[in-house]
Amino acid sequence: DTIALDNRLSKPTADFLSRRHKLLINGEWVAAKSGKLFPVYNPATGTLLAQVAEADKADVDEAVKAARKAFDEGPWRKMTGSQRGRLMWKLADLIEQHLEEFAELESIDNGKPVTVARVADVPLTVDMFRYMGGWATKIPGSTLPWSVPNEYLSYTQREPVGVVGQIIPWNFPLLMAAWKLGPALAAGCTIVLKVAEQTPLSALRLGELIQEAGFPNGVVNILAGYGETAGAALAAHDAVDKVAFTGSTEVGKLIVKAAAGNLKKVSLELGGKSPAIVFPDADIDAAIPGTASAIFFNHGQCCCAGSRLYAHKKVFDKVLDGIVNEAKKIKVGEGLDPKTNMGPLVSEEQFQRVTGYMDAGLKEGAKAAVGGHKTGDNNGYFVEPTVFTNTTRDMKIVREEIFGPVVCAEPFGDEDLEKMAKQANDTLYGLAASVWTKDIGKAHKMASLIRSGTVWVNCHNVFDASLPFGGYKQSGWGREMGSEVLNNYTETKAITVKL
Ligand code: NAD
Repeated sequence: DTIALDNRLSKPTADFLSRRHKLLINGEWVAAKSGKLFPVYNPATGTLLAQVAEADKADVDEAVKAARKAFDEGPWRKMTGSQRGRLMWKLADLIEQHLEEFAELESIDNGKPVTVARVADVPLTVDMFRYMGGWATKIPGSTLPWSVPNEYLSYTQREPVGVVGQIIPWNFPLLMAAWKLGPALAAGCTIVLKVAEQTPLSALRLGELIQEAGFPNGVVNILAGYGETAGAALAAHDAVDKVAFTGSTEVGKLIVKAAAGNLKKVSLELGGKSPAIVFPDADIDAAIPGTASAIFFNHGQCCCAGSRLYAHKKVFDKVLDGIVNEAKKIKVGEGLDPKTNMGPLVSEEQFQRVTGYMDAGLKEGAKAAVGGHKTGDNNGYFVEPTVFTNTTRDMKIVREEIFGPVVCAEPFGDEDLEKMAKQANDTLYGLAASVWTKDIGKAHKMASLIRSGTVWVNCHNVFDASLPFGGYKQSGWGREMGSEVLNNYTETKAITVKL
């Protein structure tokens, strides 16, 4: 295989692709100890994009050693919050200056439309570093009142948890790196980041900018490599104080087991099967594009995708017709084409998985109101935006996370809200939900009855760096973003003085 550069790419992107792709360890770009490389493909065309150094256990050891030294000996831990924050803002500025390059890398590596990466992935990444840079100076402890005054003085201090291993998925390669790095840097931790094997490119470019911004050596180490090797070694490493993982619930459970060796702290952001509930009094003209985008945004490869749609029987046909129309309007194609609304799925494996679910749905008796199959030529991993009806609660497509542009639509009757919430909560997951209604009482009541980390009212997939995000039940442990995420990366120390 030779690397054929697409002539639509800008010069900086082409230059990056022409460089050697190594591992960032202790401030230097180094080859994998084994000398191994692994191939990275464009999911729209099947062409080879890059050969990337493949980290394994030996490289994880080196990276952890570097992070350990940077944490234990400094200069990172001697720097003030203000200095750390300024470095993060500098990094944010650099990413912003390279917005187009990052948008192109995300598009060719992950498949998503470049037009989307330009307005979502990259600006949200910049925002995350800026927002978290602000927290670097604002992580307070408290003074605690004793029942007998003037005998003791107690206060708490929040300290960085130490060396953090972070493992991220491929659905938002750059943004997931920012969600992880931002709060850990703000808290004063040092990091070994293991990026997804499907989509390592934007994080490697980010590593170059981290160097350019002037972070001390060893503070951020970036490894590309496979989960079963590099990822597993990182999760199990005895010199790592905490592991933060985003990905499948199945691997999340493996992370917990691996972490048990030294009882490192664990935070997990896992799968979902999020309901979108449309009440008859909703603004249907807003609910239709809203619930369509809830599932079709990022090709349904969102952990919070609205993959179960419940619409009241009075409005079900209208909502269904509307979503089917929205699905038909979606132009599926190559991410670099500015007319594309939906790109290919990320990999052959995901393509097999998603088309497997489509087939299983049809076989189990569901009806495809639109879609249900693969599409496009046979080079890329394209599937049709799909809406299933005639589903039942025990079907695989209703119970399991598909992680593709596939929604199951079901009508509901005049049940009370408790019963409706029970149906919404009938899942192993608890990541997100949306409620569509004009009745504010109903909206707030449903919001509190649904057991998930996020509830959107009259919207879906709305994010901000300030909003905590994470799961109930098997959707995870802990929260990302907001001030909440700082709990993942700090230890609280209680100090008591006898007066
Ligand atoms: P995955 O969970 O296997 O991979 C996520 C990350 O974990 C990658 O970096 C991977 O290399 C790493 N990993 C894999 N096995 C590991 C192990 N044993 N130890 C440590 N790290 C390991 O996800 P996937 O296979 O790419 O996708 C499968 C399914 O996961 C998807 O269909 C979807 O349902 C779900 N998923 C969820 C999210 C999310 O944001 N919650 C993201 C991606 C995938």
